[in-house]
Amino acid sequence: MSGVPPDVSAFLPFAPMPDRDSRPYWDALGEGEFRLQRCRECDALRWPARALCNRCRSFDHAWEEIDATAKIVSWIRTHQVFAPALRDVVPYRVVQVALEVQHDLLLIGGWLSSREPRAGEPVEMQIVEGVEGFRFPCWKPIVA
Ligand SMILES: [Zn+2]
Repeated sequence: MSGVPPDVSAFLPFAPMPDRDSRPYWDALGEGEFRLQRCRECDALRWPARALCNRCRSFDHAWEEIDATAKIVSWIRTHQVFAPALRDVVPYRVVQVALEVQHDLLLIGGWLSSREPRAGEPVEMQIVEGVEGFRFPCWKPIVA
């Protein structure tokens, strides 16, 4: 994983296990796109992917490419080695962001900067190569 900042490599040793609902999400990331489900009944975006809308209980949805800008909500610097694959990458940071397109959608991802994140700062997604051909959403500051 040359060229990948240390904070990102932390969770890239693990491959996701896509299921019926999440496979389109992972497939889109693999093609370099950020897509989420949008409910066709109430227009809300759904995250994580699921069969049923948590707002209106509709099953009807479409996958839509989403503007991948957000604001930092929180972050954590992890020093604990939770798995052997993480032994050489601690400490690392993982950020939680709120999407600009729908503020109640909170996502987590790696942090693509050598400095600490700041609460409320604008960020944009960068899709990063991981294991087994999977790509992962990571976040970088819009203003360095
Ligand atoms: Zn809905």
